[in-house]
Amino acid sequence: MSASLPFAALDQIAAGLDRTVDEWFARARATGRPEDRPACRRGCAFCCHQLVPLTTLEAQRIGAYLSTLPRHQRRQIGASLERHLDRFSQWVKDRPAGDVRDRAVNLDYLRQRIPCPFLGPESECRIYPVRPLLCRGHHALETSARCQTAETQIRTIPAVDAATTAAMRQAQVLVEQLHLPGGGGLISSFVPMFRVALGRDSTRAGAQRR
Ligand code: SF4
Repeated sequence: MSASLPFAALDQIAAGLDRTVDEWFARARATGRPEDRPACRRGCAFCCHQLVPLTTLEAQRIGAYLSTLPRHQRRQIGASLERHLDRFSQWVKDRPAGDVRDRAVNLDYLRQRIPCPFLGPESECRIYPVRPLLCRGHHALETSARCQTAETQIRTIPAVDAATTAAMRQAQVLVEQLHLPGGGGLISSFVPMFRVALGRDSTRAGAQRR
């Protein structure tokens, strides 16, 4: 399979979503109403402590990007992956029953404050150009205070939510057309793939040797 073709199609979906988000954010800012202004800004990473579902193709795109990073960055991200997996595995043992899409399960995960393995030391996304579609469309209006627990309703722009859902569905269709293994998972499900992309063994024992 040519690796560039499906990635180009995925990148197009992502770019389309980015344009929609930018357009609606600009409209929201133009209203001049503080309550309608997006609270999202560089360095705010409350939403980077959630369960992030993504397709297999998005995970492969991240893997391809990781393999191009300088060695020191790959080592740092590799170490973050292992720390993330330790905490994620512990949470899996204790987590409430239910599907990972259930609100109660998501709220419990958010309470653990487990950072995404790609979150950098300055709360930056270390895979920003290839971050999952969900991350691109996730936002909050007025304040990020509710993003820490999500226990009270987070106000959002419906058109951005709809565009994010549509983009995720488009990526899913692409995965089905490509007959890729598995429809997707959480960032944590793809840790073996990311380890390989970072030049580590896919197993924990192999990763720990480095
Ligand atoms: S991939 Fe990037 S934007 Fe998405 S949760 Fe992780 S650090 Fe945050």
